[in-house]
Amino acid sequence: MVSIAIADVNYPPASTGQIWQWLGEVSDPEIPVISVTDLGIIRAVEWQGTECVITITPTYSGCPAMDVIAEEIGKTLQAHGINTPSIVYQLSPAWNTDWMTEAGKQKLSGYGIAPPQQQVVDISSIQRYREVQPAIACPQCGSVDTQLVSQFGSTACKALYKCKACLEPFDYFKPH
Ligand SMILES: [Zn+2]
Repeated sequence: MVSIAIADVNYPPASTGQIWQWLGEVSDPEIPVISVTDLGIIRAVEWQGTECVITITPTYSGCPAMDVIAEEIGKTLQAHGINTPSIVYQLSPAWNTDWMTEAGKQKLSGYGIAPPQQQVVDISSIQRYREVQPAIACPQCGSVDTQLVSQFGSTACKALYKCKACLEPFDYFKPH
């Protein structure tokens, strides 16, 4: 073990670009194939003096996974020699599924979860606005002949769908 003296002038010990790469190794505890950078929840990485500050926007306020994510980020950075990273939560603007990277969406699909789609608002009805669910493609067979079974799948962030073509149920990562 190498101990770092308090008077160490070798700061920062890693560039912010390097830290972004390390954050790419931290996976979402609920969907291990995607990283926190794929999710788009990391807002900023910066050095404030000798302190490494990571700013995160939670996917949900009160999402229990966020505590796990913060802990994992701390552990990962400590393993790379960043001693006491600070995790700061930024709640506004709220995270939305558009912040997820394309690579992240592809990994979701490969994992069997239909990635979030843009919300469409149908204004053809004069009386009222209504949200139209876009066709959700089955991550198994690609068919869009799918049906919403439940607004809540394995977690509150996901809805449960069933594919009418291959008859497989699957989770849909709900946009918000
Ligand atoms: Zn299918």
